[in-house]
Amino acid sequence: MLNVPSQSFPAPRSQQRVASGGRSKVPLKQGRSLMDWIRLTKSGKDLTGLKGRLIEVTEEELKKHNKKDDCWICIRGFVYNVSPYMEYHPGGEDELMRAAGSDGTELFDQVHRWVNYESMLKECLVGRMAIKPAVLKDYREEEKKVLNVRVVESVGKIEIVLQKKENTSWDFLGHPLKNHNSLIPRKDTGLYYRKCQLISKEDVTHDTRLFCLMLPPSTHLQVPIGQHVYLKLPITGTEIVKPYTPVSGSLLSEFKEPVLPNNKYIYFLIKIYPTGLFTPELDRLQIGDFVSVSSPEGNFKISKFQELEDLFLLAAGTGFTPMVKILNYALTDIPSLRKVKLMFFNKTEDDIIWRSQLEKLAFKDKRLDVEFVLSAPISEWNGKQGHISPALLSEFLKRNLDKSKVLVCICGPVPFTEQGVRLLHDLNFSKNEIHSFTA
Ligand code: FAD
Ligand code: NAD
Repeated sequence: MLNVPSQSFPAPRSQQRVASGGRSKVPLKQGRSLMDWIRLTKSGKDLTGLKGRLIEVTEEELKKHNKKDDCWICIRGFVYNVSPYMEYHPGGEDELMRAAGSDGTELFDQVHRWVNYESMLKECLVGRMAIKPAVLKDYREEEKKVLNVRVVESVGKIEIVLQKKENTSWDFLGHPLKNHNSLIPRKDTGLYYRKCQLISKEDVTHDTRLFCLMLPPSTHLQVPIGQHVYLKLPITGTEIVKPYTPVSGSLLSEFKEPVLPNNKYIYFLIKIYPTGLFTPELDRLQIGDFVSVSSPEGNFKISKFQELEDLFLLAAGTGFTPMVKILNYALTDIPSLRKVKLMFFNKTEDDIIWRSQLEKLAFKDKRLDVEFVLSAPISEWNGKQGHISPALLSEFLKRNLDKSKVLVCICGPVPFTEQGVRLLHDLNFSKNEIHSFTA
C-alpha cells in the first residue's frame, strides 16, 4: 500500500541521518524501514520464540537475555524480545544493546518517550516482570466522576469543583491513597491523547496543507508557544506517532492566544511526503475522521521574550511552523520589541508557506522584515539564494543597538539547524541568545 523507496535509509546526507538532540541515526540496511518492520510484525512470524505464549519473567531470567541474537528488554514492567527489531531500529543496534537484559525504561524515556513502543513491539512481547516495578495507578477515570474542572485562562486559574459521592457528613478525613498527595515530574506522567476530528484541510503550497482539527467537547488543550504535540494514527494496524507544531489559523488574524477561551480548534501546517510513512495516511483522512493528538511537549520558554528588543527567526521548509505563533505573539505582546527579522529558506518559490500573508504582515507592521532564500531557484529569481552560510547570516543578524536584548530562533532540517547554531556561535551569539527547535 505504501510505496517506500528501497535504497538505504536514511539516504546519504539526508536530514534523517542525524536525529535531533545530537543522537546519531544509523544507516539502515535495504528493506529495514519502519514500514518493513510493520510488514514483518503482520506476517505471522513468531518474533518472540515463544509461539505466542506470554510468560512471567524473573530478574535472573531477564539478565540472561543480553546478547544481540537473544536480547530482552523490560519497559514499564513488560518484557520484549527486541532481537528481531535490532536491524530496524533507527538508533542502531548499539543503542538497544545498552538496555540488553535489563530495565530500559529510563533509557527509553530519555531518548524517545513519545514512541508508542507498545504498538510497535507488540509481537515481541515476552510477558511481564514477575516482580512488577511500582506502576502509578491512573486515577483519572475515578476522579472524572466527582471532579468538575473549569479553566479560566484569562486569569491563569483553574477551578476544581469537588462533589461528594454520597451526600452525608464525613466523620473523619481518611488517609491519603498511595501516590496521592505527591508530586510527579511532568516528564514522568506520560502523554495523554485525545481524539480530534478533522474539520477542514486546505492547500497552502503544492505539498503542504493547513489541517484544522476540533477538540472533543469539554476538553481543553492549550499548546504553549514553541511547543509541539504528537499526532497518532493506526497505519496497517500499528499506531504510528509523529511530532507536529500547532500554528494559528492565519498570520493575519488578530492574535488572541494565550487567552482565547474555550479553544476548540487546533491548526497544523503539514507537508505531505508522497513516500513518507505518516503524512500520506494523514492526507487520506476525510473530513469528519479522527486523529489522536497528544499533550504538548517542548522546552521553549516564553520568558525568553521578556524585555526582548531584536528577534531573529531562521526557518527552513516546515521549520517555519514554530515561527507562526512566535511571530504573532512577538508582534502583539512584547512592548519592548523593536525589530523582528525572518529569514525563510526554501527550495523554490512554490515551496514558500504563506508567502503573501508574510508579505502583507511585513507591510502592515514595519517592525517586521521578511527575506526569502531559495536553494534551487529558477534563473529569474532575483532574491537571495543558497544554503545557510556565514555570508547570509552576518549580513542578516545585525542588532539594532550594540547591547540590545536579542533572541535567535532556528528550525528546519537537522543539518540546517546544526549548521545554523554553529554559525551563530561563530558570530558570537551566546547560548542564551539562541533557541534551536528539535524534538
Ligand atoms: P517519513 O516516513 O519520515 O519520510 C520522510 C522522508 O524520508 C520522505 O521524503 C520520504 O520519502 C523519505 N523516506 C522514507 N523512507 C525512506 C526510505 N526507505 N529510503 C529513502 N527515503 C525514505 N512537519 C510538518 O510538516 N509540520 C510540522 O508542524 C512539523 N513539526 C515538527 C515538530 C518537531 C518537534 C519535529 C521533530 C518534526 C516536525 N515535523 C513537522 C516533521 C514530522 O514530524 C515528520 O517527520 C514528517 O511529517 C515526515 O513524516 P512521514 O512519516 O510522512 O515521512
Ligand atoms: P526542505 O527539504 O524543503 O528544505 C528547506 C530548506 O532547508 C532548503 O531549501 C535548504 O535551504 C535547507 N536545507 C535542507 N537540507 C539542508 C542541508 N542538508 N543543509 C543545510 N540546509 C539544508 O525542508 P522540509 O522538507 O520542509 O523539512 C523541514 C524539516 O524541519 C523537517 O526535517 C522537519 O522534521 C523539521 N521541523 C522541525 C520542527 C521542530 O523541531 N520543532 C518543526 C517543524 C519542522
